[in-house]
Amino acid sequence: MKKVAVIGAGFTGLASAVELVNKGFQVSIFEASDQAGGLAGGFYPPMNSSWKWKLESYYHHVFTNDADIIRLAKMVGSPVLIKKPITNSFVLNQEIQMDSPISLLRFSGISLFSRLRMGVGLALLKMIPNGLFLERYRVVDSLPLLLGKEGYRVVWEKLLRAKFGPYIDQVNLAWFWGRVSKRTKNLGYFEGGFAGLVEKIVEYIEKKGGRVRVESEIATVRSTETRNDEDGGTRDDPADSFAVRRAGGGVLVDEERFDAVVMTIPAPSVERLVQGINFPKIDYLWGQTLILETSQKLLQGYWLNILEDDWPFLVMVDQANFIDKKYYGGSHLVYLGNYLPKGHKQLKMSKEELLSLYAPFIKKVNKYFSKKKIKNLFLFRSPYAQPVFPVNYAQKNPEMRSPVEGVYLANMSMVYPYDRGTNYAVKMGVEVARMIINDLNNK
Ligand SMILES: Cc1cc2nc3c(=O)[nH]c(=O)nc-3n(C[C@H](O)[C@H](O)[C@H](O)COP(=O)(O)OP(=O)(O)OC[C@H]3O[C@@H](n4cnc5c(N)ncnc54)[C@H](O)[C@@H]3O)c2cc1C
Repeated sequence: MKKVAVIGAGFTGLASAVELVNKGFQVSIFEASDQAGGLAGGFYPPMNSSWKWKLESYYHHVFTNDADIIRLAKMVGSPVLIKKPITNSFVLNQEIQMDSPISLLRFSGISLFSRLRMGVGLALLKMIPNGLFLERYRVVDSLPLLLGKEGYRVVWEKLLRAKFGPYIDQVNLAWFWGRVSKRTKNLGYFEGGFAGLVEKIVEYIEKKGGRVRVESEIATVRSTETRNDEDGGTRDDPADSFAVRRAGGGVLVDEERFDAVVMTIPAPSVERLVQGINFPKIDYLWGQTLILETSQKLLQGYWLNILEDDWPFLVMVDQANFIDKKYYGGSHLVYLGNYLPKGHKQLKMSKEELLSLYAPFIKKVNKYFSKKKIKNLFLFRSPYAQPVFPVNYAQKNPEMRSPVEGVYLANMSMVYPYDRGTNYAVKMGVEVARMIINDLNNK
């Protein structure tokens, strides 16, 4: 039986493992942290939890057209819940609904002409079936033309500046197209949260004979195969791999032999682990969420984009305005979310320091906000949470079949021009697994 290793138990790794075990391959997933799920993983409060469901460290939902992850959820028997939560924006010192053409038309923060202009521009973008060709334009140049200067300045520039900070000038229009073209008003979630779905996927993999090894950080991956060069010579020829080569070649993952390996970890980590693989040098932002578990309802809707200059966070999200708070001991769970460049001062602050920084701004959203009503504070940070895609990135996006024999690549920066998301993670995980199955069966 052919053996395949998967590095990383996020949605890409889990989906590729499901496809491989379904086709009878022997699969081992290696995960550095103590649980599967990656960026979509969840947590319970450390003590005396009355929560029935885990909460994602980073706010998560799916769109109703996220067919790949919904198909996977059905396969493993995880029910999908469809909800219609409200998305608002904080602008002109109030929460304003701005999640449909009608609510956009009602928004009085810009002229009627600008609202219509913006509506038409967004509708045009949504109609484009494949927006990859837009990658030659930067958002900072093209969006004011497409959506109108006023709409861009009051809405989109604020969002983009808050998200990308010093990198805003790099972001290309294909990425923006990917964001707006996929959005649906109804949103999906999974029974038990994304963690509930992950649990079901892990059970499925294990039932089919696969192994999911947590707390197993991989340090080295190397090919033992020789490959003929055009001149008849060989490369990738480490002297100590001769025995393995004669035994059928393959890849050594921390010295354990596999026929192939899928690397689902961020590009800079792949480069550290495997010699001979180079990703394009792009910038990444850290993801950071401070989560307040509170008895107070602070927001009117599920989601609140902050369209103000110089706020210390860019979004507020209350899980309890999306999913019934009975699953979380009756609490509201309010995320204060940020994307931050490496070295940013907030990345060095404690959760208490962040709360002190944020509190005056939370009070602007809800003047009744009281720190005394907070039961728990949680803080999560991850590097490589958001890749920044510059113009003409497609030419540099690497192939899934890497130049190192037996090593396959499938990670978040490769789902471009779509923005990272669990649906694309699943789609790419399945694609890379099919490529491996085909290659190994034809070897
Ligand atoms: C703030 C935020 C909000 C988001 N919201 C949504 C949303 O609403 N909906 C949605 O669909 N998506 C959302 N996403 C994106 C989504 O979380 C990711 O696209 C998806 O989880 C990526 O999965 P992945 O498997 O490619 O990568 P990851 O989830 O990053 O998984 C990689 C795994 O590899 C492990 N690993 C790393 N190095 C090693 C090593 N050396 N050895 C072994 N294991 C290793 C890591 O621990 C990790 O578990 C959001 C992301 C963020 C940051």
